Amino acid sequence: MKEYTVKILEVNQLTHDVKGFRLEKPEGYSFSPGQAASIAVGKKGWKDEKRPFTFTGLPGDDDLELVIKIYKSHGGVTNEIDSLGKGDELITGPPWGSIKYSGEGVFIAGGSGITPFISILRHLQSEDAIAGNKLLFANNTAGDIILEDELKDILGSDNSINILAKEEVDGYRHGFIDRDLLEEFVNPHEGIIYLCGPPPMMKAVEEHLGEMGVGDDRVVKESF
Ligand SMILES: Cc1cc2nc3c(=O)[nH]c(=O)nc-3n(C[C@H](O)[C@H](O)[C@H](O)COP(=O)(O)OP(=O)(O)OC[C@H]3O[C@@H](n4cnc5c(N)ncnc54)[C@H](O)[C@@H]3O)c2cc1C
Repeated sequence: MKEYTVKILEVNQLTHDVKGFRLEKPEGYSFSPGQAASIAVGKKGWKDEKRPFTFTGLPGDDDLELVIKIYKSHGGVTNEIDSLGKGDELITGPPWGSIKYSGEGVFIAGGSGITPFISILRHLQSEDAIAGNKLLFANNTAGDIILEDELKDILGSDNSINILAKEEVDGYRHGFIDRDLLEEFVNPHEGIIYLCGPPPMMKAVEEHLGEMGVGDDRVVKESF
């Protein structure tokens, strides 16, 4: 499998535990919105520790972009990535992944599960084709929401719904993505459901969708 060593060009703190990385783009490297790659830190002892991360920029951009949630307590790759800065290197393999835009619908994300949708939604906006899409974005607290303002700008406030599990804040839904919430926003008869997040959230949402009569063939998903 071909691997590319790429330098970090810029790092931005996006939330208390999420960072945005702008990387060099290897000559001829291309991906489609929603795709990820297996990525390692280019330091001794870390080069074989690959983890999947999603490209959040647009395929036509000059650079690559990643949005990465740092798990310090795992002591793994994201903790190591947290220590990297401009000029440090990452090693990326070719792009892969099952999430791909296949028509208007509802994007349902939990935490860093938003990353494949960032590229897709930015791409739809750039093509003036965002109409008819909605986002249900589940997080623990308002401070955990990745790129909240940009996602609201892209989709419009009415179509960008944030749900907070551990905080009650005016203007935000409270709780989990449950059947009532899905019935409010998902048309059981038409549209695609894009689902990405931690396995327990995915399982619960898929069960609710099944009970609502949404067939598996209308669900595009990836478990994080
Ligand atoms: C297709 C795909 C695309 C993805 N894209 C992105 C993305 O764009 N951005 C993003 O942020 N994430 C993304 N993820 C999730 C990301 O891959 C994981 O968060 C990442 O692999 C975590 O790596 P880690 O080495 O830091 O921790 P892990 O690999 O989770 O853990 C490292 C070590 O810590 C141990 N460990 C696990 N859980 C705990 C715990 N709770 N406490 C203590 N130790 C623990 C493990 O046993 C392991 O040995 C994606 C996942 C998939 C499947």
